[in-house]
Amino acid sequence: MELKAEAIGIVRNFFAAFAGAARPLLLLDYDGTLAPFQVDRFQAHPWPGLRERLQSIHQQGHTRMVVITGRPAAEIGPLLGLDPPLEVWGLHGTERLHPDGHRELDTLAPAVHQALDDLRAHLRRDSLGGLFEEKANGAVMHWRGASPAQALEIERRTRALFAPLAAMDGLELLEFESGLELRAGRNKGGAVDAILRESSGRPVAFLGDDITDEHAFRAVNRAGSPHLTALVRPEWRETAADIWLQPPGELMHLLSQWLDACVSIGR
Ligand SMILES: [Mg+2]
Repeated sequence: MELKAEAIGIVRNFFAAFAGAARPLLLLDYDGTLAPFQVDRFQAHPWPGLRERLQSIHQQGHTRMVVITGRPAAEIGPLLGLDPPLEVWGLHGTERLHPDGHRELDTLAPAVHQALDDLRAHLRRDSLGGLFEEKANGAVMHWRGASPAQALEIERRTRALFAPLAAMDGLELLEFESGLELRAGRNKGGAVDAILRESSGRPVAFLGDDITDEHAFRAVNRAGSPHLTALVRPEWRETAADIWLQPPGELMHLLSQWLDACVSIGR
């Protein structure tokens, strides 16, 4: 499958910058981007053939690949199945899991910690009709799979509970598709900024699907080095990303081009 006409020139210019460049950075969201959504998130496996494509890029050895996800970082390795595992920034960037298993987690202010403990205890008793997910730095309410009427009711009750806490210093409300998260710490844009500080001057791309990925798109778009941002999604929506890829065909095509472009590195 070819890319859309409006994407072809943008992508060609990006890959042209690989010739003689330092190791490029490929930053990837997981759910909705590398894997289609599942109501049971532990069943969200990569698109057919995608694992093999990423493994080829990994083995080629020119690319630094990093997954940046809203999930706890440890969930990605077993689902993605790459060997050796990739570096993963979890919890939207608050947590960092290195390929050797070393894990870093941002510390929270005591008042924030207490507020989240209380909220999680509340939601364990009453999940408001939705699917409650506990995180080290937050609480998440999902309504994917609920009927439209149920979803509205879960959202209304969740907002009523989360909004007063979101006003607290150190806590923020994060909207995503079919859910709401109250959280502390860095977002995906902050994670991208931190990675770019470690690896400045390299070509960098970010691929993501959700509203939470817009922070990362904007951070990559600000990079001083050659960059590419791609919204990976069956339907288009308003976005800061440079191009729109419909998975899995256009996504697979872009990754094939990535593999080809890396051949020119170091020549
Ligand atoms: Mg996603």
